[in-house]
Amino acid sequence: MQNAPIRAKNADVSSRVVVAFRATTSNVMKSANVNPITYTSRGDLKRLEAFCDYPLDSSKAHTVRSLNCRACGCNNTQPVLLLGDMPLANAFAKTAKQARMLERYPLELVFCEQCCLLQITKTIDPTALFKDYMYFSSYSDTMLSHARDLVQRLVVERYLNSDSLVIEIASNDGYLLKNYVELSVPVLGVEPAKNIARVAEEGGVPTLVEFFDASLGSRLASEGRRANIVHAHNVLAHVPKTNEFVQGIRHILDPKGVAVVEVPYAIDLLRGRAFDTIYHEHLFYYSLASLDHLFGRNGLTIRDVEHVDIHGGSLRLMVDTRQSDVRSQAFYALQNEEIRWGVSSYQAYENFAKHVEKLRDNLKNMLGCLKGRGKSIAAYGAAAKGSVLLNYLELGPDTIDFVVDRNPHKQGKFMPGVGIPIRETSYLAEAQPDYCLLLPWNFAEEIVAQEDTYRRGGGRFIVPVPYPRVIAHDAMDVFVSN
Ligand SMILES: [Zn+2]
Repeated sequence: MQNAPIRAKNADVSSRVVVAFRATTSNVMKSANVNPITYTSRGDLKRLEAFCDYPLDSSKAHTVRSLNCRACGCNNTQPVLLLGDMPLANAFAKTAKQARMLERYPLELVFCEQCCLLQITKTIDPTALFKDYMYFSSYSDTMLSHARDLVQRLVVERYLNSDSLVIEIASNDGYLLKNYVELSVPVLGVEPAKNIARVAEEGGVPTLVEFFDASLGSRLASEGRRANIVHAHNVLAHVPKTNEFVQGIRHILDPKGVAVVEVPYAIDLLRGRAFDTIYHEHLFYYSLASLDHLFGRNGLTIRDVEHVDIHGGSLRLMVDTRQSDVRSQAFYALQNEEIRWGVSSYQAYENFAKHVEKLRDNLKNMLGCLKGRGKSIAAYGAAAKGSVLLNYLELGPDTIDFVVDRNPHKQGKFMPGVGIPIRETSYLAEAQPDYCLLLPWNFAEEIVAQEDTYRRGGGRFIVPVPYPRVIAHDAMDVFVSN
């Protein structure tokens, strides 16, 4: 019944709009827990509006206009995956009740047919997202060695010296720039989080505490601060005004300089069915095709691209302001690979959504069967992706007894939305539940090895992505086929 076609009263309604409406309606009904009905009255429209971030056309009460693309401005965005309305993925609460009462926002992925960009429909106020922002890059060994290798390479390749300037946007605690400082190359960081910028300053990295945009870029340029290298790592996906941000990069880039831009790679996400990396902090999910549109639109050219193995697969772009149309071999190779994958066709994205929905149903069935057989289930890893998965599948304490996590700041708190308590990791072997759902599935091997006591005691891990499977204590057996 939920998938029943929506009656269209106006003959001029395009099929695309009806599809968008059908998908959204189904989602609204699920999230609002209301009976499936045809939304034709103004009251219904108002209720629907509460779950949508885009304007609804009151003259055609049965239609929903999709979001205008934030990058190219066109209105050809198509719904891809609707994950439901959920709280912010990192909003860990003090009590189960607070966790369940948290404000919820729709989490919907749409695809722009014009510029190939994937984006979510809802923009959350950055102050709500980052008020408790406690991510210090220096805490990750991988990030540190990644930064050091890159800097050493660039200093040699670009002949940098004490007359050069390197600017990093979203410079965090200075983990990257301090490598330049050690090599006597002048730097400037731009970081909006005061507490994090202070750490950078204390470490010898001069840092401006500001949000970066076109006007800041223009101001720096007018002060003569144009950079030989501009770094922007893992920031492009978070900034709503993406064109202004890229224009800012153009302003501060020396005519002979290069911008090094790193973004998580959308095609890796889609191929790996990593739907749980879609959450409100990440507005955009970039392919090379969409990045090429974005930079080209703002007077910059992607000269070279590398596919790097960080954050589940990222692209590292070399971007400059030169007029030449020559690109690297690697650029053309990846461009062709994306064309073969179907980067500009809605169908490729639709296939991803179908796989995710199948994964959701299979995992829900698996957990339901286990509970039906009287088995106890816990989960490992209280991180953002875990929040997304638990909320998407609507798994609460009636299915998952507790979540364990190594971070002492999260222990004693409750998972956003679903209100499952978070315990220390030693509790897993202590309570010895029959099954443990491994939420950070990308670290499955490492975690399974760490939790040897639990496995030896007969505990079994369930790895949910890319398809649900159980790891027994002595072998891996596929529980649900792909
Ligand atoms: Zn677009």
